Amino acid sequence: MRKNKNGRNSGDRCDRCYEGTLHPQKVSETILKRGRALVIDDIPAEVCSRCGYRYFDIKVIRAMDALFGEYAVHIDLPKIVFQEAIALQRAA
Ligand SMILES: [Zn+2]
Repeated sequence: MRKNKNGRNSGDRCDRCYEGTLHPQKVSETILKRGRALVIDDIPAEVCSRCGYRYFDIKVIRAMDALFGEYAVHIDLPKIVFQEAIALQRAA
C-alpha cells in the first residue's frame, strides 16, 4: 500500500467524520488567496467516501503552492457587506 507523508492511505478511516474510508481520486481545486485566483484540475488526492473531505500529500500541497505562485492571476471579485446588502434587498 502506498503511504503518503501525512500517513493517510487508501482504505484508511477518515479523520474528520470517522465513518468514511479514503479512496484515491483526481480532484479540481479553486484557490483564492490575496486577490489572486487559480483553478487546478486533476490533482491527486485521497477522498473520504462519506463526507468528501480531501486529503493531499504534503508534496502535492507544496506543488500546488508553487503552481499558484506561477500561474495565479489577479481578479476583482465582487465584495459586499452582508447586513447592508440584506437591507438593500429588503428595500427593493
Ligand atoms: Zn469523512
